[in-house]
Amino acid sequence: MAYEQFIRDLNYLGKKDLDRIKKAYEFAQSAHQGQFRQTGEPFFSHSVAVAKTLALWKLDADTIIAALLHDVLEDTTVKIDQIRHGFGKNVANLVEAVTKLGRIRIKKSWFPFKPSKKENLADFERQAETLRKMIIAMSRDIRAILIKLADRLHNMKTLHGVEQQKQARIAKETLEIYAPIAHRLGMNELRGVLEDLAFPYVYPAEYKWITELAVPVYKKRQKYLSKIIKIASKKMRQEKIKFEIHGRAKHIYSLYRKMLRHDKDLSQIYDLVAVRIIVLTIEDCYKVLGILHANWKPLVGKIKDYIALPKPNGYQSLHTTVFCQAGEIVEFQIRTVQMHELAENGIAAHWHYSQVKTSAKMPKETLIWIQKLARWQKSLHNPKSLYEDLKLDFFKDRIFVFTPKGDIKDLPAGATSVDFAYAIHTQIGNRCVGAKCNGKMIGLSKPLENADIVEILIARKGGKPKRDWLNFVKTSLAKNHIRKFFKLGPVS
Ligand code: MN
Repeated sequence: MAYEQFIRDLNYLGKKDLDRIKKAYEFAQSAHQGQFRQTGEPFFSHSVAVAKTLALWKLDADTIIAALLHDVLEDTTVKIDQIRHGFGKNVANLVEAVTKLGRIRIKKSWFPFKPSKKENLADFERQAETLRKMIIAMSRDIRAILIKLADRLHNMKTLHGVEQQKQARIAKETLEIYAPIAHRLGMNELRGVLEDLAFPYVYPAEYKWITELAVPVYKKRQKYLSKIIKIASKKMRQEKIKFEIHGRAKHIYSLYRKMLRHDKDLSQIYDLVAVRIIVLTIEDCYKVLGILHANWKPLVGKIKDYIALPKPNGYQSLHTTVFCQAGEIVEFQIRTVQMHELAENGIAAHWHYSQVKTSAKMPKETLIWIQKLARWQKSLHNPKSLYEDLKLDFFKDRIFVFTPKGDIKDLPAGATSVDFAYAIHTQIGNRCVGAKCNGKMIGLSKPLENADIVEILIARKGGKPKRDWLNFVKTSLAKNHIRKFFKLGPVS
C-alpha cells in the first residue's frame, strides 16, 4: 500500500504526529480524487512526492501535512477554514503561504532570454533578485520556502509532461530564481539537482555541447575511479576506520559554468569526478589523508585543509589531489558526516553566518535573515524550540506588487494603488482615476498586498490628483508629487 511506503520515511516522528499525517493523507487524497497530472499520473502522487522530499530533510509534522495539502486550495474546492479546523493554524498558514508563492511568475519577455546587451543583463539580474526577495518576504516562515522548493523539485522531475511553452518558463524560473534560493539556504545538493533538471530546457544547445563533451570523459573516469576506490577502501579497513566512499560526478550545469568562467580544457578539471570519503570524526579525516598520501604522491599546492581553515562560506573538508595508478590525477574530499550534511543540505545557513563575520559589506537586513537562519540551524537539535525562530520577517515592512506586464514594484507595507501609480510614473500617478487589483476594481485607498497584480486606470484626457489622497498614501514619492501639484511644498 502506498501509504505504508510513505510513512516509512517518517520514522523520525512520533505516533501522535503520524496519526495527524495519516488524517491529512486521506483528506488530501480524497480532495484530489479524479484529478490527473499532465504526465497521466494521479494528481495526489505529486503531493506525496513533495511530502517525501521534506521527510528526507527531516522536517516536522506540520510541514509534512502542509506539503500533502499544498495544492488543495488552488486545485480543489477545499477552503482554508477546513484546513484550519482540521489541522490547525500553523498548517493553514503554511498552505496559504505556499499557495501565494504559486502566483509568482517571471516575465514572459524573460524567455527566450538573450543576454546580448550588458544593460539587459543588469536589468534582468535586478528583477531576478527582486523576485527572490519577494519569495522570501512572502514566505515569512522558512518552511513555506522549503515546501515550495520540494514542489518545484518534483515539478522539474516531471516537466516532460508539460506543454513546451510552459516548460521553458518553469525551467527558467527554476534556474534563475529557485536554484539561487536553494544556494542561499546552503542546500547545495538541491541547487545542483534543480540546475541540472532546468539546464536542457533553458539552454538546449549548450547542454548538448557540454554533455557530448563531458559524458564520455565522465564514464572513463568513473571506471578508473572504481579501481582507486577499491584500493583506498582496503587501506582504510586495514587501519580500522569506519567510512563511506563514493565517486562523485560534478553537476553538469556547474561544470558548464566552470568551463565558461575559466575557459578550461576538460582534462584540466580534476574534480570532474572526485572521490568523497565520509568518516565519523575529525581525527579520522586526517588519518585518511595520511593513508592516501602514504600510497599516492600529492600534487604540490593542491592539499587544502578546509577543516582547520573553513571556506568563507563555512564549508569544511580536506581536499587533496594525488597521482594515482598510471599517473592519473584524482581529487579526494574527506569530511565528517556532519560536515557532509551541512555541505549538501545545509538548509539553514551556518555558512552564511560565517560569511557575515568576515564580510563587512553585507547589508543589515541580510544579516538579520542570516542570524535567524543560524539560530534555526542551532535549534535543529532541540525539537522543543524548533521552528520558534523560523519567521522570516526581515522584509515584513515591504510588499512587492506586479504591473500587468510583470514588472515588480517594491513598496512599503500599507501602500495603495496611488503609491503604486506614482512608483510607475509621475503622470500615471497624476492622471490615476481607478485601479484593478487581480482583475477586480478596488478603491484607491485600499492597501495592496504581496503579489497583487495591479492595473492603474488613467484619465483619457487631463486628469489630476485629489487632495484627499494625502490622507492615505504611504510613500513620500506620492506625497511629494501630490503636494507639488497643490503647491504645498514638499515634506521631508
Ligand atoms: Mn504543487
